[in-house]
Parts: sequence; structure tokens; C-alpha cells
Amino acid sequence: MSRPAAPRGTRDLFGDEVRRFHHIEGRAADCFRLYGYEELRTPVFENVELFRRAVGDTTDIVEKEMYVFEDRGGRALALRPEGTAGVVRAYLEHAWDQSAPVKKLFYAGPMFRAERPQAGRYREFRQTGGEFFGNGSPEADAETLLLMRDILAAAGLPKDAAVFSVNSLGCARCRPAFRDALRAYLEPKKATLCENCQRRLAVNPLRVLDCKGDGPALGDAPVSTDHLCADCRGHHDRVLALLRAASLRFVETPRLVRGLDYYTRTVFEVTVAGLGAQDAIGAGGRYDGLVKSLGGPDTPAVGFAFGVDRLARALEAHRVVIPAPRRVFIAQTGNGTADAAFRLADEMRAGGLWESAPLAVEVGAPGKSLKSQFRAADGWGAAWVLLVGEEELKKQTVILKDLRAGSQREVSLARAVTEVLETIAAEKPS
Ligand code: AMP
Repeated sequence: MSRPAAPRGTRDLFGDEVRRFHHIEGRAADCFRLYGYEELRTPVFENVELFRRAVGDTTDIVEKEMYVFEDRGGRALALRPEGTAGVVRAYLEHAWDQSAPVKKLFYAGPMFRAERPQAGRYREFRQTGGEFFGNGSPEADAETLLLMRDILAAAGLPKDAAVFSVNSLGCARCRPAFRDALRAYLEPKKATLCENCQRRLAVNPLRVLDCKGDGPALGDAPVSTDHLCADCRGHHDRVLALLRAASLRFVETPRLVRGLDYYTRTVFEVTVAGLGAQDAIGAGGRYDGLVKSLGGPDTPAVGFAFGVDRLARALEAHRVVIPAPRRVFIAQTGNGTADAAFRLADEMRAGGLWESAPLAVEVGAPGKSLKSQFRAADGWGAAWVLLVGEEELKKQTVILKDLRAGSQREVSLARAVTEVLETIAAEKPS
């Protein structure tokens, strides 16, 4: 019988990979808190209508990529394709718009899109992101970008590895003029556009710029920043000035439109070189109309999400090392050693609960030969073996073996745990 396999576009995370994920989400959470964000966990599925209204009916995500299903009660649900819609729903459901209209929320978790899988593009992938409600100032946009910068730095990505692309899409007042100009430019080229874009031209011409096939050929298309109203222009200029003052490395990218409908004014994307086609590790922007369009009061908001899978690839590409746990295997041989081995493991685990150099402690199964215990230690990747032998125990000592160095020394039973913990703490992370 063939072995089972995970569904196309999904994968198991383990080993170094899962360590990178923990590291990214942990350091991101530290940064979010530093900036005054609170964590929010929303359901993995929501009413499909929420995404239709929030993300937009004409986006690829809603048109083609959502996992939609009906539950036993006949309700139309969808696995969340992104995080913002659920956060806005929660903001309104808990009436935070009334009790705490200025609110910063962050999340981390899996998202689902039925895209064509390739390196760096999955059907189940993870994002960590934040949403900042109730502050419409350019400072909020600039702060959001600096938070993204700090998350990347805290994750260990080298300073110059990431490039921020920044643009403004204008607002409900000035975007129609841009949309008209774009439509007028695209109309004569309609026959050359892909089938999808021909349809988009009527409903949402901005999407055409985003098309992987047609976009690159439209180099002389009108750009949003040429059509900004005075307010949007002022907002954008101030954002750029704040970013320059903070020495953020960014590129003004007038053709950046983003694949979701809810953005207004500032939009941005972060890319890292060396990741191939899927080089965008994070993106976001301002979405001043979304809260209202979902039934709330007029509330400005700005947010972003990092793709954790992509950021993990970026860390790997830049050889960022995440400390692995130090593995200590406690082996036992001879009469009366099982009790001592069991107690040593318990003491060592109690002393090993620290973050910077996590510890893993395993005990050999009583009754197994020493040879098979050493094989188990090796297979498990132990760096040290603490050997509890009958003869040594009589002298109140144990043997500490460094498997990598191939050396060993006798230490007193009373000091064994301290000795191991001190040795590990003195080591450089690997
Ligand atoms: P978006 O929600 O489309 O703005 O995406 C934000 C970030 O999520 C992107 O910059 C990617 O890093 C990541 N992302 C989006 N779609 C996928 C996918 N199918 N697989 C892996 N990462 C993704």
C-alpha cells in the first residue's frame, strides 16, 4: 500500500524549519508588544461573506483561491485566506470601536489559499501580522513600517537584506480619477490582455497592474501618485519624510497596487533577494474604509502581514542560525541506577527551562543494554551522555561524555546537574 501524503500545497513543519517558525513568531510577538499591540486569536474559518465584503469580490483571493465549504447546518464558511478581515470582524463584534477605538492587535496563524503551489507558495501558509485601528496619521503608517523593520531585525535578518517598496493608492476621492485614467490607457490594449484582465478592466482596472502576465508590459501606464488629491499627497509626502528621517531603506514604487481591494493611501511590500519568484516576505497598507464597509463607524486603520514561511526561507538563505536545544541523554547500567537516572533527568529538566539555550533531556529505557542506549542517544542527536553506572554510583559519581569531542570526565553526583547546565551555558549556540 502506498504511504499517505499531505494534501498538495501543504507540508509538515519539523526540525530546523519549525524552530525558525517559533523564532520568527516569538520575536515578532516581542516587537508587537514593544509597539503596544495585544495578541488576538481569531477562528481559522469565518463566514464566507466576511471575506467577500472585506477582501473584495473581484480579487483573485475571493474569486479563485478561497476554500469555501458548507457546514452541516448549511452555513457558507471559508478557511481564512488572510488575517485582516477576521481582526476587523472581532474589533466590531467586541465593540472595541466604542470602548477602545485606538487599538493595536496582532496575530499569527495559518492562512489558506488554493494557489498553484511552488517553492515559497503554499495552499496552507502562515502569517504573523498586526492591525492598528483609530489613527489615520502618516505617523501611524511610518510607525507600522518601522515595526516591520524591527521584526526583521529581531528575527536576525541582515539589515540590508530586505527592501521596502512604498506607494500611495489615494482615497475614495482621488482614486476614481486614477482608475479612469488607467482604464482609458488600457482600453485600446484590451485585445492584448489575458482573459482575466479583460474582465478586470471593467470591474477593477487596478488589478491589471498586478497581473503577473500583463503587468510587466504596461510600463508606461498611469501611476496612482500622479493622481493624488492634496490631502493624500500631503499624507504620502509626510510618510516618506518620516521614513527617510528614520533611515529606512525603501523604494518609492508607483506601480505597487496590492492584491486586496481594501487598501487606501499608503501600501507597501517587503522583498528579499535570493528567494526566486516568491520574494515578497510581507506586505500591507492603510485601509481607512474597511471598518465602515463591514458595518462599523468611520475608522482609519493600517496593517500588515509577514509570510512566516517566506521569512523562514529568507533566514535560511541568509544563514541565520536559530539555537537548537542542547540534548543530554542520561544512560544507566547496573543495579539501582534507574532511580538515580530518573531523578537526575527531573532535576536537569527543572534547571533547563531557559530560553536562550534550550535544553532537551532524555533518559534511556531501564533494562536496555548500554549499547542500545548509546545508539538511541546518537539517533536522537545527543551532544552529551550522562552515564549512571553501578560502580560510579557507589562512589556517588557519574560520567559525563561529550559525544562530539569524544571525551569524558567523572563528576560528583551532587554536582552533575549544575555541571551539565554550566557547560551548556558556556557553549556558543550552534
Ligand atoms: P497578502 O496577504 O497577499 O498581502 O500576503 C502577505 C504575505 O503573505 C506575502 O508577502 C507572503 O509573504 C505571504 N503569502 C501570501 N500568499 C502566500 C502563499 N500562498 N504561500 C506562502 N506565503 C504567502
